[in-house]
Amino acid sequence: MATKYIFITGGVTSSLGKGIICASLGRLLIARGLRVTIQKLDPYINVDPGTMNPYEHGEVYVTEDGAETDLDLGHYERFLGIRTSQQNNVTTGRVYYDVITKERQGAYLGKTVQVIPHITDEIKTHVLGLGESENFDVVIVEIGGTVGDIESLPYIEAMRQLRYDVGRKNTLSIHLTLVPYLAAAGELKTKPTQHSVKTLSESGLSPDILVCRSEYQLDSTIRRKIAQFCNVEIEDVIASLDADSIYEVPLLMQAEGLDSRVIEKLNLPAKNADLAKWKEFISKVKNPLHEVTIALVGKYVEHHDAYKSIVEALIHGGAMNDSRINIKWIQSDFLTKKNVAATLQNVSGILVAPGFGDRGINGKLAAVTYARENDIPFFGICLGMQCAVIEFAKNCAGLEEANSTEFDEKTPYPVIDYMPDQRNITDKGGTMRLGKYECKLTLDTRSREAYQTELIEERHRHRFELNNELRERLAESGLIIAGINPERDLVEIIEIESHPWFVGVQFHPELKSTVNEPHPLFVSFIGAALQKSGITDETVSRENQPA
Ligand code: GLN
Repeated sequence: MATKYIFITGGVTSSLGKGIICASLGRLLIARGLRVTIQKLDPYINVDPGTMNPYEHGEVYVTEDGAETDLDLGHYERFLGIRTSQQNNVTTGRVYYDVITKERQGAYLGKTVQVIPHITDEIKTHVLGLGESENFDVVIVEIGGTVGDIESLPYIEAMRQLRYDVGRKNTLSIHLTLVPYLAAAGELKTKPTQHSVKTLSESGLSPDILVCRSEYQLDSTIRRKIAQFCNVEIEDVIASLDADSIYEVPLLMQAEGLDSRVIEKLNLPAKNADLAKWKEFISKVKNPLHEVTIALVGKYVEHHDAYKSIVEALIHGGAMNDSRINIKWIQSDFLTKKNVAATLQNVSGILVAPGFGDRGINGKLAAVTYARENDIPFFGICLGMQCAVIEFAKNCAGLEEANSTEFDEKTPYPVIDYMPDQRNITDKGGTMRLGKYECKLTLDTRSREAYQTELIEERHRHRFELNNELRERLAESGLIIAGINPERDLVEIIEIESHPWFVGVQFHPELKSTVNEPHPLFVSFIGAALQKSGITDETVSRENQPA
């Protein structure tokens, strides 16, 4: 069967949740036995979001092959249970970079290099390349931005051309739009949708299906009106109402018939959807037996998207423990030795987040001390692990002036230091230790117990590392080296034995947690937090080991 391509555009406004709609459709098609992947086309000129501030862009999601990508790829992996790669995220910056590189190599044989055909051809090559890479049944292509934006135009044009290149019957255009409710008029308004579809159609990509975000149900009159003005059948007007949890969206889309319409229009060989595991997960999220409060300590906490995967992994780990997670967002800039007890006294677990630069470090160190001294389950991720090492060195190993060379180049005890191959790098983009690496777990550690296996693979994004020259000194004082990268002998996990649950990881476990396979460390961390909060009955361990 030829690979089918579904183009998903967005209209009226940003933040309609296009990524979640793409991921939900992907989940439904996979549940029907199809081989599906999703690609995000981003219209900005950065080559990737790796150089962007989390306030600008939210979390940078890292794939196994070490690509720094848009956070929507996290949704794709969590919903679909697939692994994405560099091929799943294409930006305008990358497209131009590749075209200009080819131009310098003389690849265009004296031609004038133009947006059409050279930029559009390059975009099409990326889309078709992904489809052909693994012979997918369906590639869902999410076009970032909003229809009508100048920077989206080359993408829309490339999709228009693709409809002819691969045949209309092998492509589908879905447009996500907004049907707002005007309280003063007391009604839902279809005009923004009409305008948005008109703009899209002017670019030659009229929609086959409309997904309409709305706060209220669309009645048949509204649906008929939208269908008539926008040139689609009434069954192709899909309502997407606000959901309590993003994980409910696939079920809402199924109830509206989105997957059935797609399957019919693309003539896909699909079986009945198997969503049993998904539904079980949702029922655990919606009807938890317990509640537990976790402090998330970081410097970008006003912007929750900066910690997207961590939040989702906590939800997954919570569901496995039949628990709802209340996140207490703690701005590390304001946390001090003085106020730490008052701020953290009612939490059952403390997670210190990843990050870069020295802002908020003292607050993070105060949180580590509080967790360590008060036996509160502690989970340090990347910079959070590095803070745990610094704190341990200062307060348990007698190295009072210990620090990371990221914050103090002259520290006498650089317990966290540049990895040797990072020291002389000057370019910022794509040059960290990125992507998947192996880690061998030490017997009789919390980590080994959680993973239930010896060799694991996790994803990385960092330049600094526990300094092997000071490793012995720390170990002598009781720091457990719980995981090592066998290839380069780098410390990947630290623990403290005398503590109920104190784990710091140099990698980013949150990136691998999915609905169907919650991450073992998050499951174990929440289990420990529940015990701390006094919930010790069997429900904590019932059926809750990851598959
Ligand atoms: N800034 C630290 C480093 O580069 C930690 C990075 C992170 O938390 N992702 O090593």
